[in-house]
Amino acid sequence: MRLSRYFLPVLKETPSEAQIVSHRLMLRAGMIKQASAGIYSWLPLGFKVLRKLENIVHEEQMRAGHIPMLMPTLQSADLWRESGRYDDYGEEMLRIKDRQGRDMLYGPTNEELITDIFRAHVGSYKDLPLTLYHIQWKFRDEIRPRFGVMRGREFLMKDGYNFDVSKEAALHAYNRHLVTYLRTYERMGLQAIPMRADSGPIGGDDTHEFLVLAETGESEVFYDSAITDLKFGDRQLDFDSVEECRAVLDEFTSRYARTDETHDEALFNQVPEERRRMARGIEVGQIFYFGTKYSESLGATVQTPDGKSVPVHMGSHGIGVSRLVGAIIEASHDDKGIIWPEGVTPFHVGIVNLKQGDAEADAACEALYKSVTALGLDPLYDDRNERAGGKFATMDLIGLPWRITVGPRGLKNGVVELTSRRTGVSEELPPEQAVEKLAQIYAQYHTAS
Ligand code: ATP
Ligand code: MG
Repeated sequence: MRLSRYFLPVLKETPSEAQIVSHRLMLRAGMIKQASAGIYSWLPLGFKVLRKLENIVHEEQMRAGHIPMLMPTLQSADLWRESGRYDDYGEEMLRIKDRQGRDMLYGPTNEELITDIFRAHVGSYKDLPLTLYHIQWKFRDEIRPRFGVMRGREFLMKDGYNFDVSKEAALHAYNRHLVTYLRTYERMGLQAIPMRADSGPIGGDDTHEFLVLAETGESEVFYDSAITDLKFGDRQLDFDSVEECRAVLDEFTSRYARTDETHDEALFNQVPEERRRMARGIEVGQIFYFGTKYSESLGATVQTPDGKSVPVHMGSHGIGVSRLVGAIIEASHDDKGIIWPEGVTPFHVGIVNLKQGDAEADAACEALYKSVTALGLDPLYDDRNERAGGKFATMDLIGLPWRITVGPRGLKNGVVELTSRRTGVSEELPPEQAVEKLAQIYAQYHTAS
């Protein structure tokens, strides 16, 4: 993409309504624009990141055999009356009447709808295990929408639902989701710690929230610092193996890590004092096992091998996809702007032409643009007629992890400059070598944009 032809409405002033850094930077970098309280338009740069996160979520869900689909945002109130949640859910649910006077609602979550699909089409243990998921907009009429996309009213969520014949099978699905989430967040450049949590209006006994540590997080958390040494990495797992998934859950949940809702002072005090941490965190996902809560009220049953009809065991599993954009920025920025992790960056490299209109500099930038694109990478070429200082400030603000700077002086010596956004370290290299280095850096990341 050439910046002269892109739509990147960068703001010079710091917007006064934004209280936290991710919100400020998303507005300044032209990623989002508020449409009304807690509701945002995703401008091209923001949309690109959102799509990348969605792609990672899809890849990791499908890797575990979970099946993508799409349910609508608007739902009929009837199903929610059947489950008993229509009245329970309270004012967070946006209720709408259609022209026939029927009660509708903008879905805050999808347990009812998915259970209705299940009961219409599945009746035998032979069709299980089954996990269906979608990535769809949700609406919760939050009393205090704030912090930009972190606590919106309309927000994008991945929600997945497992259906299993028994509690043991459903707990395996729970563990399997925990594994997929660990890998998903790591691919986004984040450390998200699974913490024992409270189940809220979804219901159920077993639940973990995934928290990214950040001062601006809304949750208070207590943990054993040893947990931050754990890495999932590139483990290859058999997702059908009960033992393998269970072992990962044990490894990642055996240290003390809880939100204030489930915090237990006595247990916490058993952690050696020097490892006890109290901090704040951003909830970026949650997994639940809730058994037969919805299948009983909605009559979703399956035939067992011995011919009995039993309510199906379920769980639901959510990832806050749009909140993650803010969470990544909270975890990765400096005073100049965003620093995107390579796995989610909207463009892989910025090309800065220090002297637009200089025949040699222009030609070198064009050649770089072509060879970076030929690698399957996505460059953003700042081809505007602007001062170098302004170009650098824009690149730093929007946070591309790598920058190639091209100017007449360097070209005389046959070199361009490759700069890391994170460390600020620059290296002078012949253009081909700079491109080769980018190829190496991104080899370990999926490059789909
Ligand atoms: P919270 O406690 O932050 O209100 P929740 O526990 O009610 O969230 P879940 O039902 O667990 O939310 O939804 C799954 C994920 O969706 C959450 O982990 C969070 O990342 C995201 N999410 C929930 N509410 C919002 C919101 N208002 N804006 C953006 N993302 C949200
Ligand atoms: Mg939650």
